[in-house]
Formats: sequence, C-alpha cells, structure tokens
Amino acid sequence: MVFLPVGLQDPRLIVNQVLTIYTSKGKVHGVTGGFKPIHQDKEVGRAAGFADSKIDVGTSSRAETEALGVQIGDMVVNERPGRMLGERIYCGKSVDNRSGCAAMILAMRLLRHVKTEATVYCCATVQEEIGVKGARVAARSIKPDVAICIDVGFAGESDALNPDCSRAYLGKGPGIQLYDWNPDFFLGNITLARMRDALIGAARRQDIPFQLIAELRGGTDAAEISLSGDGVLTGGLAIPERYIHTAVGTVSIDDVRWTAELTAAFVKELKSKL
Ligand SMILES: [Zn+2]
Repeated sequence: MVFLPVGLQDPRLIVNQVLTIYTSKGKVHGVTGGFKPIHQDKEVGRAAGFADSKIDVGTSSRAETEALGVQIGDMVVNERPGRMLGERIYCGKSVDNRSGCAAMILAMRLLRHVKTEATVYCCATVQEEIGVKGARVAARSIKPDVAICIDVGFAGESDALNPDCSRAYLGKGPGIQLYDWNPDFFLGNITLARMRDALIGAARRQDIPFQLIAELRGGTDAAEISLSGDGVLTGGLAIPERYIHTAVGTVSIDDVRWTAELTAAFVKELKSKL
C-alpha cells in the first residue's frame, strides 16, 4: 500500500523501516521495501523516496489488507522502541517532541507543592510540525501573559549542519532560544531582552547549565503563541537533539532534567509583571 508524509519528512529515510499503522481495529505492523533485491539492482546507492516505497503488511490482496482494519487515511508511524546509549543519552523515535513533554511533566512535578504567584498551565500541543496549529488553539483558550515554549534544537556536533542553524551541544544544558525563524512559514519568535534576562537569571541563580542559541531555519510554537491575543511575552527552551526529524533521534537526559529545572525556577521567580 502506498503512503504519504505528514509534516517535514526526509524521503530518503523511509526505506526499510518497520512501521505501525493505527487502524480502527488496532495497530497493524508493516515494513517498507521499495528496492529490488540487491542482487538485481543496478541502482544500488540511489536515494529512494515515498514514490518508491510501499508498506508490506504481510497480506496478498486488498481484501486481506482491509480485513486487518487498514483504511485510507490511517496514520502511520515508525516502530522504534526507545533505549539508552550508555548512561546519559536516550535514543528513540519522536524525540522531537517527546523530550519536551517529558521536561514539561517533570517541571509540573517540581512545582507540585510550590505556591506560585502565576497561575500555571502546562500544555502539550498537537500538529506543531504542520503549521503550529495546536499552539494557536491552546493560546487562544488559555490567554497567557507569559509563555515558555519547550522544543528541541539542532545539536550542531552531529552532522554537516547548515551554518544557519544554531550550534547547541548535547549534555551542556537547555538552549535559551533568543531567536527562531522558519523562512518557509515566515514565522518566528524574538525573545525580548527582559524574558531572556529572566531565564538566564533563573538558570544562574539555580546553577543550571544553559546555552544561548538562535535558530535561523526552524520555527516552534513560540511564534504562534507570541501573536495570540494582545501579544504574549514568549521565550523558548530548546533541548539539544541530534538527528532531528529522522526515524531515531538522541537527547541527553541531563538536558531534559535541566530544562524542567529551569522551567520550574523561572515559574517560581515569576512576578505579576515581567
Ligand atoms: Zn520538529
């Protein structure tokens, strides 16, 4: 069966993966092939894409496939269990932005018994990758005064990274995002100086390591949140990630923890006027 990308997917990375289809009858697993057997392929080494790839769910007819519950429109994801690489690095699928959700949940735990001047909303948004949609709806309904957007950021030591992208490093703390910009959507966020200083100040006072970053080729929910209502003071924290938007990414679990600690420290210090 053929399938299409949702959001930014590198078509070269879809070959020879185990995938899970979410059907009305439950999960169905399949594999992607797309190439001839290597013994018969004169084009070995050529990059393939979605047009070359099909999902094989082990059936031999359309009726058999439909009997599994598979329908047009079902969502397909990579089948990739998460695991640790050594002691400090986690690898798995959808680290962008499961790591951000993990940091947010940890921040909620750190704030559980703390009396804060601010009313705190924690929100995991959907469809950031296809036009920051969930953040738009969430910001409209919450009407925040101040927002921190937790996402991942490009870890620059991994691959031949476009110099436009920021250079954050795994295990050196969350990136305080000074600026992010997605030229395709013409959307971005400039973290105002007072927001930047509050985040840096909270990190320094709590001895939390951080990196200062700017991303010229990657937007986040921050852009949409900053434009909601009468405008929202918005900053971003970026957990450095290697291999963003591939089948498997890596993050440092220390960076995830420090992101949570910095979020909680910022919230604790937040007064009614920033
Ligand atoms: Zn992303």
